[in-house]
Amino acid sequence: MADNCIFCKIARGEIPATIVYQDERVVAFRDINPGAPVHILIIPREHIASAAEIDASNAALVGYLLQIAAQIAKQENLVDSGYRVVTNIGADAGQSVPHMHFHVLGGRQMAWPPG
Ligand code: AMP
Repeated sequence: MADNCIFCKIARGEIPATIVYQDERVVAFRDINPGAPVHILIIPREHIASAAEIDASNAALVGYLLQIAAQIAKQENLVDSGYRVVTNIGADAGQSVPHMHFHVLGGRQMAWPPG
């Protein structure tokens, strides 16, 4: 847990969020500034700064985050149309919150490569 991390605060219930799924390991909530009709963020409760910190100690947790992404995509009816799961790492990728999160984006046609 990082005291001043906004996503840790959401995970602790100290900042409101529209939570769509949570359990003892992860929290998923709607992005406050959605980039698509469906835009959900999935975070581990454990503070991990970015996916650059994935190692043998937390790889199973990352797999679980992606399992929850698949579950949420079903919940949000995105499977037939398709959707994107993405994580930004560091400045060049535009990571603005230094707590690892996976974006689940769907409900519109996506462009590739991303801007
Ligand atoms: P990134 O730029 O990849 O670090 O993604 C951070 C995301 O967090 C952005 O899409 C923001 O809109 C979103 N965000 C920031 N603060 C909040 C918040 N309090 N509740 C929900 N989403 C947030």
